Amino acid sequence: MRRLPLFLLIDISDSMIGEPIEYLQKGIDSMISKLRQDPHAIETLHISIIAFAGRVKTIVPLMELPGFYAPKLQVGAGTSLGGALEHLMKEIDTKVVQRTEHRKGDWKPLVYLMSDGKPTDIFQPAVDKWNRHYRNRVNTVAIGLGPHASTGIFSKFADNVLTYNGETEADFTKFIEWMTISVKTQSIKVAESGDRGAFKVSLEKSSDVLQPVKSGVASKDEDHVILVGRCQIKKSPYIIKYNTTAHSTPISQIMNFRQNDAKYMLSGCYPVDESYFEWSDPGSMGGDGPAVSISSIFGNASCPRCGNPVANAVCGCGKIFCVPGTGPSKCPWCGRTVTMEIMGEGVDFDITRSYG
Ligand SMILES: [Zn+2]
Ligand SMILES: [Zn+2]
Repeated sequence: MRRLPLFLLIDISDSMIGEPIEYLQKGIDSMISKLRQDPHAIETLHISIIAFAGRVKTIVPLMELPGFYAPKLQVGAGTSLGGALEHLMKEIDTKVVQRTEHRKGDWKPLVYLMSDGKPTDIFQPAVDKWNRHYRNRVNTVAIGLGPHASTGIFSKFADNVLTYNGETEADFTKFIEWMTISVKTQSIKVAESGDRGAFKVSLEKSSDVLQPVKSGVASKDEDHVILVGRCQIKKSPYIIKYNTTAHSTPISQIMNFRQNDAKYMLSGCYPVDESYFEWSDPGSMGGDGPAVSISSIFGNASCPRCGNPVANAVCGCGKIFCVPGTGPSKCPWCGRTVTMEIMGEGVDFDITRSYG
């Protein structure tokens, strides 16, 4: 019998303390007992729970439903998302029977990741490795629990990214019911037609406690905007960081300026190594990256490489570079000579930002 491996990747950072972890504990118990009553699930499903805070551990190794009991969830400090992905990849390598020419192996594993916060570790190398070697052979659903989850980061490695926006225990129960149905549906699908074809989660039964997050688009509640620039003289890169004004005094109140609708304010401009690009998702560097409108950011930095007074000039190619002022300048990204002008009142356009 080919197994359908299910990995539950659970964020147990200390921000989950209290009701969230309580609901989650009850939710897992109820999900397991419902799945036990399902003939398809009981036949094929094998479940593992991996928990992560500052450290990552498998709390239940991959096992079949009859013997499965979820231990009590603990919490810790930190959100090692990169570490969790690394750990998951190791588990997939060692616990999942791979398909070969002579052996059918397990069905494509299912991964449900649940997290309420932002990663506190360096996650990009793990994300890159995942995208290169694992993404296509695993069906992943990443669920942001609440408004502070970094769904923009989830979009870098998961094809199905959702936001849970419920508040009450009843809402959470609905969410768990949806997840149970979603797992059941996949166990029926593999039994009847195999695991080929696109895996797409249906939100029909989610009772509106879940919302899809568009793949590749950073979530709107992000705290920062990061722009990547290049010095036209030294050619080397730098990043300009803007912080959200959402949690602070609106700019309009501290400055009598027209940028009333600016959502992000300059925080700093920092030189970075060329390796910045190696650690970055290629999709976030080109025109496919998330966009930010020029009127939503406020504040100018000088170039940390050459001292040019304007570090956030925008070329026609969409990239950011440094300029001494108005007049002709050469874009270090595309090589074109462009004439810089001061942006007129009311001019607005989108520029590509990094995922941050
Ligand atoms: Zn410069
Ligand atoms: Zn250019």
